[in-house]
Amino acid sequence: MANIVRPINNKVGVDDLVMLTDVSESALNNNLEKRYKDGLIYTSIGPVLISINPYKQLGIYGQEYINLYKGKHEFEIPPHIYSVADRAYRSLLSEKENQCIIISGESGSGKTEASKYIMQYIASITGGNQEVERVKNLILESNPLLEAFGNAKTLRNNNSSRFGKYMEIQFNYAGNPEGGRITNYLLEKSRVVGQTEGERNFHIFYQLLSGGGLSTEEKNKYSLLTVEQYNYLSKSKSYKADGIDDAQAFAATKKAMKVVGITDDEQSQIFKLLSAILLLGNLSFSATQATNKTSTSAGCVVTEKQILSTIASLMSVDASLLEQSLISRMITTGQGARTSSYRVPQTVEQALYTRDAFAKAVYSKIFDWLVRSINRSMEVKVKGTVIGVLDIYGFEIFKNNSFEQFCINYVNETLQQIFIDLTLKTEQKEYVEEGIKWEPVDYVDNKPCVELVEKKPLGILSLLDEECLFPEGNDNSLLEKLNKHFTSHSHFAKVPLTAKTGQFIINHYAGKVHYNIEGFLDKNRDTLFNDLVLLATSSQSSLLVDIFQYVAPQALEEEDPSMMSNNNKAARDRLQKSGFANQQAKSLIPTDKKRPITAGFQFKSQVQALLKSLYSCSPHYIRCIKPNETKRQLEWDDDKCAQQVKYLGLFENLLVRRAGFCYRQTYQKFMRHFYTITPKTWPKWEGGKDDPKRGSEILLEQLVQQSIIKKSDYQFGKSKIFIRIPQPLMTMEEKRQQR
Ligand code: ATP
Ligand code: MG
Repeated sequence: MANIVRPINNKVGVDDLVMLTDVSESALNNNLEKRYKDGLIYTSIGPVLISINPYKQLGIYGQEYINLYKGKHEFEIPPHIYSVADRAYRSLLSEKENQCIIISGESGSGKTEASKYIMQYIASITGGNQEVERVKNLILESNPLLEAFGNAKTLRNNNSSRFGKYMEIQFNYAGNPEGGRITNYLLEKSRVVGQTEGERNFHIFYQLLSGGGLSTEEKNKYSLLTVEQYNYLSKSKSYKADGIDDAQAFAATKKAMKVVGITDDEQSQIFKLLSAILLLGNLSFSATQATNKTSTSAGCVVTEKQILSTIASLMSVDASLLEQSLISRMITTGQGARTSSYRVPQTVEQALYTRDAFAKAVYSKIFDWLVRSINRSMEVKVKGTVIGVLDIYGFEIFKNNSFEQFCINYVNETLQQIFIDLTLKTEQKEYVEEGIKWEPVDYVDNKPCVELVEKKPLGILSLLDEECLFPEGNDNSLLEKLNKHFTSHSHFAKVPLTAKTGQFIINHYAGKVHYNIEGFLDKNRDTLFNDLVLLATSSQSSLLVDIFQYVAPQALEEEDPSMMSNNNKAARDRLQKSGFANQQAKSLIPTDKKRPITAGFQFKSQVQALLKSLYSCSPHYIRCIKPNETKRQLEWDDDKCAQQVKYLGLFENLLVRRAGFCYRQTYQKFMRHFYTITPKTWPKWEGGKDDPKRGSEILLEQLVQQSIIKKSDYQFGKSKIFIRIPQPLMTMEEKRQQR
C-alpha cells in the first residue's frame, strides 16, 4: 500500500492552517498551492476540511484507506475526507446527536465526488444484517440514478449536478444504516429545452439514445431517433462528454432503477415520456387566420401531425386534445350560473412557449417522482439519529444572472449565516460554560442580506410573489418596487440609469451580483396552463397521471395568515380568470388555506426546512476549491483560487480558529489517550484514574518542562482541557506512537 500517511510534521506546508506562522491571506493561499502541487489536496482549519479538485486519480481512496482512517482522531493522521466522515459517525454514536456534513464550493470543485466518498466510507465501516445491506445498497445506488436525470455536461463540469441534494442516512441503535431520505432542490429544468453551445441536456437522454441495452423492439416501442434528430439536443452541438460512457451509464441507471424498486412497466413508461419530451421539441406551429368571433388574434396549428400523434401515443393521451392544449387556452369568465368558457387561440410564439413549458414540467415531475420512489424504498417509520450530507450548488456569478442564480445565491447566503452562527456561537458558548478566557473575533454578519431576500412582507421574494398576483404585474413594475423599497438597504443597489437597465444589484457576502429582472415573474409563477394539467391527468399512463396529481406538502404554518388569505382570494380569482373550472383539476391546486405555490415560495420553504434540519445537527464542513478552469491536473490559477478562498470565508474562519482553541477534550478521554507519554503519568499518576484533571495538570507541567508546550497555549476548563494550537498535540501524538 502506498503510504499516504506522511510523517506528521510533513514538510509540504502545514496540515492545519492554524499552524501558519505568517497569518495572512497570501500565506494561506501559498500553503494550499504548495500542498496541491505535491498531491496533497486536503488541508484543515481545525474541523473544517478544505478539498482541492486534483483532476486525477490520486489513489487515496478505497478499502485500505478506509481502514487507515477508521476510528482515528484527526491529530493522529493527515487531513482526509474519510476523517470528516469518521468524525461525524463517531459523534453520532457517542453523542447520540444528528450530524450534518455541509459541502460547498463552485461548480466543478468536487462536491459530488466528496459526497460519494462519504457515502462509501459510511457503507464500508458499518455492517449488519440483510436489511442493513439492502439500505446501504439503496443509498449507493440512488446516486447513479439521480445523476442520470439530474446531471449534465456544462462548460465547467462534464458531470455537473443541476439540482441540490440533501441526503440523510438514518442509523439504528447499533449504528448501522436503517433508512434514509433525499430532499432535492431546484432542478434546472430550462436545460430540457435548450443549452448553451458546448453543453448537453441531462445525461439520461443520451443514455437512452446510446442504444446500450435496448433491443430493436424496445427502440421501436419508444420511437427513438438519433441524437442529431432532436431539436432539444442538437442546438448546443455537443453530444459526447469526456470521461462519460453513455451506454455503460444507461446500464447502471437501469440497474439502479431496479434496486430502488421501479418496475419494468414503470421504467418503460418513463422512457416513453422521455421520448415524448424530446419529440415535443420537434413540433412546430403554422399560423392560421382568425376564425373565432370572440378573438381577433390569429391562431396556429401543429405542422407535423405525424410527430404529434407519436407523442400522443407515447403519452397515452388523445392527439387532438394534445394539439388543442398546445395551440389554445380555455378562458372562463363570470361566476356561478353566468360562467362561460371559451377557447382563445395562441400565436405561434405562445404555442412554442407552451410546448416548452410542458416538456419542462413533465421532466421535472419525473425527477421528483424518482426522488419519491427512492425515498419510499428506504423509508423508516420511526425517527432515529441521522447523518445528513448536503451537496448543493455554490455561489454563482455569471454574465447574465437570472432568477435561478438569485435562488442559488440566496441559499448560499443562508448557509454562510449558519456557518457563522454555528462556528462562532458554539465556540463562544463552550468557552463560557467551561470558564475559559478568549478573544472574540469580529466577523461580517450577513443576516441583513438574508433578510433582504426573505423578510415578510417586505423582502424581495414577498414583493415578487405579490407582483405575480397582480394581473398587470410585470418584470419592470417589480423592479420599480424593489428600487423604491430598498434604496437605502445596505445590501441592495439600483443599477444607474446610464448602465444597462432592467437590473438590480445585491451585495452578497461573496461579492456584488447584477441580476437581470427579465423573466423573474414568469419563472416565479411557474404556471403550466391548466389545459395541459387536464390533458396529462386524462392519460392512460398511470405514471403521467401520478406525477401531475402529486402536490408537494408545503411548509405553510410559518406563513403570515393575513398575507395568506389575501393571496388566497387573489389566487382564486386568478384561477377563475384563467378558466380553471374543472372540478378534477381544481383538486390538484390548493385553494383552501393555501396560497398558490410560486417557485420562489416553494424554494424558500425548502430552504427554511433545510435550515431547520441543519440547525438541529452538529455540523461538519467541507469547503471545495476548483484550482483552474482547464480541468488540468497540477495547474493552479492564482486569481481564481484566491477568489474562492475569499468567498468561502476561509481566512475569517482561520482567524476565528486561531483566536480560540483548536483542541478540547474531556480530562478523562485526554488522559486515556496521552497518559503514556510522561513518566509521571505512566503507568499511573497522582490522584489516579478517578482524578483525570489532576493527571492532566501533571502531564501538562511535564510537557512545559520539556518545552513541548507553552503555558499560554492551554487552559483548564471545568470538565475539559483546551489547547490553543495543534503543534504540541502533534508532538504528543508522535511520542505516544513511539511508545
Ligand atoms: P457541480 O456543482 O457542477 O455539480 P461538483 O462540485 O459536484 O460540481 P464534481 O462533479 O464532484 O464537482 O467534480 C468534477 C470532476 O472533478 C469529477 O467528475 C472528477 O473528474 C473530478 N474530481 C473531483 N473530485 C475528485 C477527487 N477527489 N479525485 C479525483 N477527481 C476528482
Ligand atoms: Mg455536483
